[in-house]
Amino acid sequence: MKYPDLTNIIGGRKVSAEGQFLDVFSPLNGELISRVPLSGSAELDQAVAAAQKAVPGWAALPIKERVQVFYRYKTLLENHKDELASIVVEENGKTTGEAVAEVLKSIEVTEFACALPQLTTGEIEEVSRGVECRSDRKPLGVIASITPFNFPNMVPNWTIPNAIALGNAMILKPSEQTPLSANRLAELLSEAGLPDGILNVVHGAKETVEAICDHPGISAVSFVGSTKVAKIVYARGTANQKQMLALGGAKNHLIVLPDAHEQMTASDVAASMSGCCGQRCMAASVMVAVGQVDNIIEKLCNEARKIVPGKNMGAVISRAAKDRIEGYITEAERQGAKILLDGRGATVSGNENGFYVGPTIIDHVTSDMAIAREEVFGPVLSILHVDTLDEALEIEKASEYGNAAAVFTQSGGLARYVAEHASAGMIGVNIGVPVPREPFSFGGWNQSKFGVGDITGKSSIEFWTQLKKTTIKWNPEARTNWMS
Ligand code: NAD
Repeated sequence: MKYPDLTNIIGGRKVSAEGQFLDVFSPLNGELISRVPLSGSAELDQAVAAAQKAVPGWAALPIKERVQVFYRYKTLLENHKDELASIVVEENGKTTGEAVAEVLKSIEVTEFACALPQLTTGEIEEVSRGVECRSDRKPLGVIASITPFNFPNMVPNWTIPNAIALGNAMILKPSEQTPLSANRLAELLSEAGLPDGILNVVHGAKETVEAICDHPGISAVSFVGSTKVAKIVYARGTANQKQMLALGGAKNHLIVLPDAHEQMTASDVAASMSGCCGQRCMAASVMVAVGQVDNIIEKLCNEARKIVPGKNMGAVISRAAKDRIEGYITEAERQGAKILLDGRGATVSGNENGFYVGPTIIDHVTSDMAIAREEVFGPVLSILHVDTLDEALEIEKASEYGNAAAVFTQSGGLARYVAEHASAGMIGVNIGVPVPREPFSFGGWNQSKFGVGDITGKSSIEFWTQLKKTTIKWNPEARTNWMS
């Protein structure tokens, strides 16, 4: 085993767990690289107690002082970029370039957190002569962040800098499939000067998450993962009076019109469907071809052929994921869809036990097929054909999800029409992965998100704080009014 058994990080200390452990495998070669503790409520109790002890002192600091930690953290992320990326590569199986991009996004979110003093100034107004009302954003106390396997560095950082800079103490529960990055991030935050107990890492799986949803000492929880689990977590947390934001899965549609720029569309769609092995909640999953776009489909296949597992493409997370993805492809083929590019059975020489699936493009998929409706979460693109833009939009709107949608066209009017009518939270115009950059917020619609607001950017300020309103009078001569 390359890494020793992982520990939880509680109150600034590495705390060895005593209960059960789960094996952690590298998707690149199937090798056992570490073991992750499956913490229960006893470990969570310790973490919440450590957070409760630390949070009053942290929350009492002016925000300008709190963000100094994140200026230093940003520099540490930059200095350790390659090392952090190598951990992601090993535990998640993505390519080095993709892992570096993930760390760069973590840096961007941290830059946003450094700007929070500029964005949280509060409001004040004289509401009656000599009487003022002011509102201030106050932290919630102890909060939790539960994260998925696909971005072990970036998704924890969607929440760590903003939630903590705003004055909260966090319990981070990373994915048990990719748990290594979280401990390294906690070490860097400690090096950046974050007081002990403000970030606690509690490893585990279902039971740990359930304990978080039930814990009376935790006031808010963000969750990022599949829709099935997002719904369970959202319902359980709100039933326990917690403020909840749960981001779920996706089924993103790209609408391609005949006037789309041929080469740009082909490269963008190929990159969107196969980047991170299709394991992005923003990945293209369905391409709706409007009218005659055979020239673009041909170029798209040529572009996708250049993406090769083990060369410029990584692995999927597990054998179970590989089997699931290949099962969807086989079922679509059985139902009469035409496989233009087949990534099943991909192997990488020297890493025969890795979990590889090559880019797969399937034409003549119909709306009733499972592959057209369900989240595949692999490098697979289904192509559906329609005659009109409105038919394409009907298909997009019929999806239960609503994370991203994109249109490829050179017509501004048609692009605007799609942006207006698509039922998704993040829209791309000639962009295959329309992730909003800071200060804009990240979050989908429909079954891709449960709760109010988004997880990053300006919207996250609302989620991680509560407003305190104070009404003030100093002098007896202040005028009273009907409210007095
Ligand atoms: P997952 O739902 O299986 O796991 C997410 C988290 O929930 C993990 O920490 C896991 O330990 C925990 N968990 C798993 N099963 C649970 C259960 N039954 N009860 C309570 N907790 C449980 O998701 P994943 O496979 O790690 O990640 C992939 C999914 O995440 C995809 O569906 C993808 O679209 C989604 N995702 C969404 C976004 C977004 O922003 N909307 C971003 C990244 C990933």
